[in-house]
Amino acid sequence: MLLTEYRGSIMFELTGKTAIVTGASRGIGKAIALKFADLGANVAFMHVGDGEKAEETVKELEAKGIKAKAYECDVSDFEAAKQLVADIIEEFGEVHILVNNAGIVRDGLILSMKESDFDAVINVNLKGTFNMTKSIYQHFMKKRRGRIINISSIVGITGNAGQANYASAKAGIIGLTKSVAKELGSRNVTANAIAPGFIRTDMTDGMPEKAREAALASIPLKRPGEVEDIANTAAFLASDEASYITGEVIRVDGGMAI
Ligand code: NAD
Repeated sequence: MLLTEYRGSIMFELTGKTAIVTGASRGIGKAIALKFADLGANVAFMHVGDGEKAEETVKELEAKGIKAKAYECDVSDFEAAKQLVADIIEEFGEVHILVNNAGIVRDGLILSMKESDFDAVINVNLKGTFNMTKSIYQHFMKKRRGRIINISSIVGITGNAGQANYASAKAGIIGLTKSVAKELGSRNVTANAIAPGFIRTDMTDGMPEKAREAALASIPLKRPGEVEDIANTAAFLASDEASYITGEVIRVDGGMAI
């Protein structure tokens, strides 16, 4: 057997697994979904108002020979998230992996930040992660296995001027991740967070030029990250090779938050 074949056969195998990825119509979530599909997992994903891109993503996923389905569902809506997870379990059978990736930004200094901007960001990023975790919790408990991977951000560790809402939500996700890891550890369920730095997506393409330049200048590796950098880390955390890692926060940021 060639060494490359041998390596391929033991690393990051997800065949027969099913993953739910929130916010996978584009960006980081899409890259995670595609990577999981490459490794053999079926993928159910959620999005909001991104129908065309979601259908494209489904086609790309199906072309990899796995089962894929897109659902338009707002993760911040507790009842909708609960119903959707039940529907996905019914449709796909057992779910093995949950990736809480859906997120939004509403940046501004606190001086000008509206209450509704604070609430919206907390509701999607943090409460959405809680809603999805609570919806899958009993399923994972009963099956005595499961992987929860939450997409936080380095600003949840460092804070950031102009992102009080987002940094609070992303810091909250870290506290939530560690709590879930402690609650579900005895059931063989792991919960970990990934803290991306500056990754090239629609979200960062929308940043003002000056802010982009300042962000890039502060990265020791002197380049933005790619969505695949986050997908590779998520694949590792979902794999058998990461079975003894829980409650961890992995920065994938080119050193930005050292
Ligand atoms: P993006 O804006 O490109 O994609 C966001 C995805 O989330 C889309 O699929 C969208 O439909 C979905 N979504 C938005 N609101 C939703 C809701 N209420 N319910 C369900 N789905 C919803 O974003 P991205 O840059 O790919 O970021 C993905 C995640 O990574 C986010 O949580 C973001 O905070 C985090 N992150 C991104 C960066 C970066 O540099 N891009 C850095 C750190 C953290």
